[in-house]
Amino acid sequence: MTIQIDIFSGFFGAGKTTLIKKLIDEKVYSKKITLIENEFGEIPIDGAFLKKYNIEIKEIKAGCICCSTVIDFTNTLREIIKSKETERIIIEPSGVGKLSEIVKIVKKLEEDNDIHLNLVIAAVDVTMYEEFTELFSEFYGDQIINASTILLSRTQNVDDEELGKVVSKIREINETASIVTTPWDDLSGIELLGLSEADGQQIPRDEDLSVFDLEFDDHDHDDDDHNHDIFTSWGIETPKIFPVIKLKSIFESLKDEAVFGKVVRSKGKVQIDPVNWVEFDFVPNALEIRASEPDEIGRITVIGHDLNQAILDTVF
Ligand SMILES: [Zn+2]
Repeated sequence: MTIQIDIFSGFFGAGKTTLIKKLIDEKVYSKKITLIENEFGEIPIDGAFLKKYNIEIKEIKAGCICCSTVIDFTNTLREIIKSKETERIIIEPSGVGKLSEIVKIVKKLEEDNDIHLNLVIAAVDVTMYEEFTELFSEFYGDQIINASTILLSRTQNVDDEELGKVVSKIREINETASIVTTPWDDLSGIELLGLSEADGQQIPRDEDLSVFDLEFDDHDHDDDDHNHDIFTSWGIETPKIFPVIKLKSIFESLKDEAVFGKVVRSKGKVQIDPVNWVEFDFVPNALEIRASEPDEIGRITVIGHDLNQAILDTVF
């Protein structure tokens, strides 16, 4: 049986994990799946969730699967394929994984293994498009150019004009991908996947992949190494209580780039009073806080560019 491979890429905070959890939670995958997660200071899908759905997970933590841990990544893929215990592999690269490199690796393995690269998805936060394209085009542009389906997130937060602008800019750099603009909550997992799988034919050919190098990456196209170091992550485990109002004011203040550096993402789980806990998700244009199960200890992670870690230590 051919193993199907789906890649869910997306920059920090675009909603990759939310998307994968939605699909799994709505049981769109009937078959045994293995998830390969590559984190960059990101909080992984919780173990309880994976256990509930009997999902095998392989975490690659020591570096990026598109460069420094490419051998580890390839070997992990080979092992999963060889064990024949899984029928679908879901790859979740880190926010700064270069999609072009990951597609190349899978395509190479496709030559001598019974696998099929099925979906190449990029989740893109429509509210951050302009800013991130400008600041981080090396990773951001690469994901958009090389995806066969682009799932826009937070489209409910912008008006039609803004949405239209972003869609046409994406279209300029990726002519063929299908671009899904419906808010994710309004689509079932099956519909989302159906929209994506209809594009199975449009997975970029190898020639297309190199176009990116020429246009955007000329500073280092002789060298596959790229600079993930422009991003840092900061994290703590904390028993502290953060009332919601306090959390809101901290995240409001994190927008101050002169003080904190450029925060692109924060995620965590903390206690808000002696009995209640919340999970939060922060991207520069949105803070989502929702009630959660208690945990042993609070966890907070912040990802950004030029982060001022010492100041972060003092606010949390
Ligand atoms: Zn890399």
